[in-house]
Amino acid sequence: MDERTLISRYFAGRHGSRKDVVLGIGDDAAVLRLEPGWDLVVATDSIAAGTHFPAGIPARAIGHRCLAVNLSDLAAMAAEPLWFSLALSLPAAEPPWLEEFAAGLFALADRSGVVLIGGDTVRGPLSATVTVQGRVRPGAAVTRSGAHAGDGIWVTGNPGDAVAGRLLADDAAQIPATVRDRLRQRFLFPEPRLREGLALGALATAMLDVSDGLDDDIGKLMLASGQGAELDAGLLPLSAELRAAAGDRAIEHALTGGDDYELCFTLPAPAEARLRAVAAEWAVPVTRIGTVVAEPGVRWRYQGRALQVPDTTFRHF
Ligand code: ADP
Ligand code: MG
Repeated sequence: MDERTLISRYFAGRHGSRKDVVLGIGDDAAVLRLEPGWDLVVATDSIAAGTHFPAGIPARAIGHRCLAVNLSDLAAMAAEPLWFSLALSLPAAEPPWLEEFAAGLFALADRSGVVLIGGDTVRGPLSATVTVQGRVRPGAAVTRSGAHAGDGIWVTGNPGDAVAGRLLADDAAQIPATVRDRLRQRFLFPEPRLREGLALGALATAMLDVSDGLDDDIGKLMLASGQGAELDAGLLPLSAELRAAAGDRAIEHALTGGDDYELCFTLPAPAEARLRAVAAEWAVPVTRIGTVVAEPGVRWRYQGRALQVPDTTFRHF
């Protein structure tokens, strides 16, 4: 299969367009129309086999993931996603694999209202790089740097599930199949919190998505804001599945496991009632786990005692 056939069979014309796509796939570049009164928000993330996912996971999950991690970045800015491009490196052009990859990619794209506007396709080790573009009203993006002492620190969803799905899934013997499947699903198909991120645009003072582990990512949020954090691991919304699979290592997974793609944000106390009202409509829980303080650093306590978090964060270099 040549490159042109591959693109037209699996990627071009696979889903509907948007009015703001003046020119999509097929020319030297895409032409997009941004309405007046909006700022453009752009994010790029690559995922590579062996680094971000084990080489053998289902192609559908890889297609989902390369877009999901990018949409998660837009969610963390409180932006509305519009368009994305895809640079794909493939060891071989295998039709069943490509069909599954595209199915995962377009299922999430269609659900999220984003359209594929171009990309590149090369032969090489398996990796996928997506660039996503979205929009916010001027000044409405939620950055990492706006946290104030006294704000609450909150997280969506159930941190730790994804890493448990990645690490523990093969310990099949002790873990019930339903628990294993649920955790596995959370690792394979992370759900970008787009709806939640957009709603938090009006409320949160600082926000990011949790990709490297909650402890590490809260550190980034505090560093950017010039603040510190005091947190209670006893408040972590550990899922029943994580507890069942990880036992007394559940907290450690929730604090250090990557791949959650939940939102972590800070919120002034007076906004809590509004958050609870908005979040009542969400499919995920939202939980206060700590407080922003002036003294730099991230400090966890558990059952009244200081908790040392092991530094297991993955670093590329
Ligand atoms: P060029 O040589 O000008 O870079 P290409 O042959 O790489 O053109 O791409 C042809 C068209 O197909 C372009 O519009 C490009 O954006 C699009 N394209 C290439 N690969 C992909 C892909 N994986 N997904 C979506 N569009 C793609
Ligand atoms: Mg090209």
